Amino acid sequence: MGSGTKFIHPGNEIDEATGAVSTPIYQSVIFAQKDLDTVGRWEYTRTGNPTRAVLEETVAKLEGGKYGFAFASGMAAINAVFCLFSSGDHLLVSRDVYGGTFRLAHRLLPRFGFRVDFIDTTEIDCIKKAIRPETRALFLETPSNPLMKITDLRKASALAREHGIITIADNTLMTPYLQRPLEMGVDLVVHSATKYLGCHSDCLAGIVVTDDRRLAKEVGFIQNCTGGVLGPHDSWLILRGIRTLKVRIDQQQRTAALLADWLSHQPWVVDVYYPTLTGHPGRELHLSQAEGGGGVLSFRLQNEVKARKLINRLRIPVIGSSLGAVESIVSLPATMSHGALPEQMRRDLGLTPDLVRLSVGLEDFQDLQGDLAQALEN
Ligand SMILES: *Cc1c(COP(=O)(O)O)cnc(C)c1O
Repeated sequence: MGSGTKFIHPGNEIDEATGAVSTPIYQSVIFAQKDLDTVGRWEYTRTGNPTRAVLEETVAKLEGGKYGFAFASGMAAINAVFCLFSSGDHLLVSRDVYGGTFRLAHRLLPRFGFRVDFIDTTEIDCIKKAIRPETRALFLETPSNPLMKITDLRKASALAREHGIITIADNTLMTPYLQRPLEMGVDLVVHSATKYLGCHSDCLAGIVVTDDRRLAKEVGFIQNCTGGVLGPHDSWLILRGIRTLKVRIDQQQRTAALLADWLSHQPWVVDVYYPTLTGHPGRELHLSQAEGGGGVLSFRLQNEVKARKLINRLRIPVIGSSLGAVESIVSLPATMSHGALPEQMRRDLGLTPDLVRLSVGLEDFQDLQGDLAQALEN
């Protein structure tokens, strides 16, 4: 089946009990037992809820995995994955991960005895050199955002496996439509479903997917133990978003690619970062593991003042920290999504305040281009 068909017919879309075509929202915490000795399939919603289960199964299937777990936010999902490890374990995390993941791994995990190193995962040798006997996890994001650096998912996960290290990939930016890390050897995929899967800027959600039974058992245990689960209504919102994922991303990435190309020819623009843009150093590698560049691009202006002016003069995109929504969203990563990074680290990574990130929505290309043109010319 093609992706478009799969997003509409993942196989569990019809409610078994009633035949409903839209998954019913089982807004119930408890499910009554027939008698003291008979516990049914459903018991208590933290442990399992029929609406959430449909979402979990759907995303698992789309990612090519067997087991899915839905959480109240992307960060709750990522935190649950870090709970797989213990005090004294050494974790390797990509240097330019999402700002919230950095904050969790840099400021909270060390309190519990984790040792974390932030490394350049785009160089396999850097990963190799950072591995220690007590290294247990490798956490990746490719393309990274906002700088769109590409990590080789096949080589990184194969190297990790050789050393008994679990590889985790944050697939938020690509979604299972464009990239399926489990098929390339990654052990666990995490998502902020707040972004493309939900897509309407109305619901926070996170997902973990794996096809490893042992890991799934552990994640399920952690989900039930810590309780950061996604509610039934929010599960339904994400399921509704997923139905139109393919057509949205098709259009968003078409517009993003055109804008990236156009921006790269503008005199005010110093640099453009988009994975499939001609001249992007990771272009070939990216296209060997993903089916498109996605809907997010970044560009650098001559200085911070120009970047701030441009953002303030844009009329169509909203200024905000999120991405992957129906409306275009523009941000200054240095002070917004990546404000949690220490300044020195931001500078080392190139996350300076002259860098603008644009998450392309469903508006017409001509309108977005015209808006950028008027803002750049002003
Ligand atoms: C937004 C985001 C997160 C965090 O997700 P929330 O739903 O906001 O908690 C994690 N990773 C990436 C890549 C993100 O863009």
